[in-house]
Amino acid sequence: MIVIGNHVLDEKEKRELQESLRHRGFVVHFVDFDGKKTVVVSERTFPASEVLPASFVERVIDLETSFQLAHRAFLPQGTVVRVGDVAIGGETVVVIAGPCAVESQDQLFRTAEVVRRFGGHILRGGAFKPRTSPYSFQGLGEAGLEILARARERFGLPVVTEATSPENAELVAAYADMIQIGARNMQNFELLKKVGMLRKPVLLKRGMSATVEDLLLAAEYILSLGNFQVVLCERGIRTIERFTRNTLDLTAIPVVKELSHLPIVVDPSHGTGLREKVIPMARAAVACGADGVMVEVHPEPERALSDGPQSLRFEQFRKLMRDLEVISVLVGRELKREDIAGTVPYSGRTAGGSNPEKPRVAFLGEQGSFSSQVARRSFGEDVELLPCQNFREVFEQVVSNKATHGVVPLENTITGSIHHNFDLLLEFPETFIVGERFIRVSQHLGLYPGTAKDTLRVLFAHPQGFAQCGKFLERLRGVRIINVGSTEEAARRTAEFGPGSGCISSDEAIAKYGLEKVEEDIEDNPRNFTRFIIIATRFEPLPEHDKVSCVFALRNYPGALYEALGVFARRGVNLLKLESRPFIGRPWEYLFYVDWEGNLVEEKYQQLLEELKTRSTFLRVLGSYRNAWKLEV
Ligand code: PEP
Ligand code: MN
Repeated sequence: MIVIGNHVLDEKEKRELQESLRHRGFVVHFVDFDGKKTVVVSERTFPASEVLPASFVERVIDLETSFQLAHRAFLPQGTVVRVGDVAIGGETVVVIAGPCAVESQDQLFRTAEVVRRFGGHILRGGAFKPRTSPYSFQGLGEAGLEILARARERFGLPVVTEATSPENAELVAAYADMIQIGARNMQNFELLKKVGMLRKPVLLKRGMSATVEDLLLAAEYILSLGNFQVVLCERGIRTIERFTRNTLDLTAIPVVKELSHLPIVVDPSHGTGLREKVIPMARAAVACGADGVMVEVHPEPERALSDGPQSLRFEQFRKLMRDLEVISVLVGRELKREDIAGTVPYSGRTAGGSNPEKPRVAFLGEQGSFSSQVARRSFGEDVELLPCQNFREVFEQVVSNKATHGVVPLENTITGSIHHNFDLLLEFPETFIVGERFIRVSQHLGLYPGTAKDTLRVLFAHPQGFAQCGKFLERLRGVRIINVGSTEEAARRTAEFGPGSGCISSDEAIAKYGLEKVEEDIEDNPRNFTRFIIIATRFEPLPEHDKVSCVFALRNYPGALYEALGVFARRGVNLLKLESRPFIGRPWEYLFYVDWEGNLVEEKYQQLLEELKTRSTFLRVLGSYRNAWKLEV
């Protein structure tokens, strides 16, 4: 049982409570969480209301499981662990990569350079190696830690490395950004207690003969000492199978996701022991919901002092990153290989780089909406979010500098353009597109508890929700359809309306308002993506940009559009999108919005714009940014 208090108890109060409970036969444990509240934990249910002052108790969670603080009920929204600037367990999928062991500065630097170049987020490398045989390479010890620290400086990647005993844990903590507990040490309780007392993120690997429950109880040791920055790692278990070094238990991912709030990553290198099997299993890990993967990479695997046969070659690591980037999007996550939004220096990557104004991002809707997801993916989990009532307000916040950036949807792959935002881009000429992102959208039917599909009378949804589920709605007869302002509001209105009502909404909102999800994925086509743009009041083409958006108007004569498009065709420029919209205030005149592949840093493309200008009555460049649609890699 967990009792969450509303303040921190002092030592004397804790001692007194401890004693009075022990008297009644209960053993309790105190943990200070967040520096703000004391949490009382016990293996067994105890009469909290009798022994704890009512003024102290904020919430009681009575669990029938052996693990308590690791249980999802304690932090239903999930834990996000921060390693340097990298967040594990948030919107993005994280890749940890590096050699099994640090062998030399040259070996680590060569690997780190590749890890960084292809978009890895955290560098790994063992300095203390727990080896099965005493004759195997045992690691460079502190010299290895020093090399890791130098690699962090040089390549701007946080580092994770293993502590093998309570004695070297502090030394490791002094150098590393994250402490790894290896499979062989998962139940080294003294070591777990030691890292529980350190305030450093921990990567806790599953023991090779440990159950998921054992793993969560090992994590519980660390949490129980007040260190909540724990990431679990599935790295394969011993089974009767002999073709692979271990059996990678991917079932553990959805199982842990349900049971625990802690992030979990997958190590397919130790999980398979075979280089060629690492990429397929890494893909599967991301597909089944892992928060990240950890892989071994070596410049010359044949010469590796440990785990060569399972270490990826550099070229394989590159492929792995490209594969994971594609798969992440399909499962509603994202793998950041670089700052595709072009908005902030990529977190954790710009060692000593410029430090622009802290982003404040305006978006439509509430926390948890798709737009807020886009904001977190672009600016990090801790970004300051400014919720707005409508799209115009998003633009106004940006123009008035109350927000540094805004996020608005521009088009959807089923329903097409969100025209209003095209118009707002013109109406606010100070704003430019500085980035874009794609989010896969799944819609579900949520009903008020107890309402059956055939007793449904009222259905709430955002107009986009209705539009994306047209085919599904055709099958629903006699239901009144009510448009609301957001997906979240659809669920809230259902909860308020009561029996007979339902909504088209997201997983999160359906769960938040206690509705019953009766049908999943009801959108007309599973390849349902919404394209969001990130706007700011600056126009700054950069060499890494590969997409330009502009809008132009033409005189009305035969072949005018044909000639304008010739400006692109003659230069072999690929058009990504062309859309016409009424020119507001000039009846029967039209604006052409066009997205094309190019980079305005280059003269060729500047000349293109010059020529287009001479052929049009109006031309405005809306933005220069990175094309985020890279599914066709
Ligand atoms: C390692 O990560 O190099 C390692 C020793 O892993 P495990 O503890 O999972 O065997
Ligand atoms: Mn290894």
